[in-house]
Amino acid sequence: MNEEFRSGFVGIIGRPNVGKSTLLNSFVKQKIAIISDKPQTTRHRIRCIVNQPKAQIVFVDTPGFHKPKDSLGEHLNRAVRNTFKEVDAIIFVVDASEEIGRGDSYIANELRMIKTPIILALNKTDKINKSKLAVQLETGARLSDFEKIIPISAKKEENIEQLLALIVDLLPPGPKYYPDEMTTDQPEAMVIAEFIREKVLNLTREEVPHSVAVEVEEIKPRKGKDLIDVSAVVYVERDSQKGILIGKRGVMLKEIGRKARLDVENLLGSHINLQLRIKMKKNWRRDEKALRQFGYS
Ligand code: GDP
Ligand code: MG
Repeated sequence: MNEEFRSGFVGIIGRPNVGKSTLLNSFVKQKIAIISDKPQTTRHRIRCIVNQPKAQIVFVDTPGFHKPKDSLGEHLNRAVRNTFKEVDAIIFVVDASEEIGRGDSYIANELRMIKTPIILALNKTDKINKSKLAVQLETGARLSDFEKIIPISAKKEENIEQLLALIVDLLPPGPKYYPDEMTTDQPEAMVIAEFIREKVLNLTREEVPHSVAVEVEEIKPRKGKDLIDVSAVVYVERDSQKGILIGKRGVMLKEIGRKARLDVENLLGSHINLQLRIKMKKNWRRDEKALRQFGYS
């Protein structure tokens, strides 16, 4: 039988920290989405594209739902709701290594209102044994009416191909939306800005992570050399945060730059000279113009 080409959009949904971004990266076998232990760190809707001989899947990572505190928060919730409506299928990710609880039920209830087919992915199975998994499979099944339920490990890349096959089954016949070689719709500058933000998230504490925005100003290959100059500005909301980011004798900024450079080198496949500067932009999270500048609306 000559099968038709299938394509469609798939939303990845779940409470913070369950492994949505890690899953996205394992689908595309490349680091695109940033990964952090801190909740509410995904700000953009990143699309990642997986090409198969007979299908193209476009994944949409979403910021998690939370109570909006500012313009940025409202913008994020809107983005999540729209995702529910627009996609052909949804992967609902829960953390199987923790108790499946209220946060998961809250999302399950939101999902009940839409007709899109849902696959429940029980993630982090590398952290639990078989009997615990059996219990979690049962608990998960009670959350809602799922098309399929599948245990996975996004980090160890277990059962990822199987999950992809389940998704393809749910997609309608359709065209190739993106060219074969494209793995994300994000411009390079945006991916790089996010890598830098990830290092800030993972190296700083308390209010600093959420006060940071990054803007890449220049990506410029040096003539005749395997070297690209990248310059970026890290914006903070207060002077005190500037001090924290620079650190004693500049060690913090140096470490952020070193770690980000490694990711950027992987992404661009070239040596990178990364220049980071820090600037203060008072209360940028409440400033619509600033939000646009950083690509958040
Ligand atoms: P998100 O907030 O849902 O996007 O979650 P992230 O992808 O940022 O991951 C949150 C944390 O869980 C990170 O520390 C990941 O390394 C970790 N993580 C994600 N998937 C797995 C997995 O399959 N197994 C284990 N052990 N850890 C995972
Ligand atoms: Mg994430």
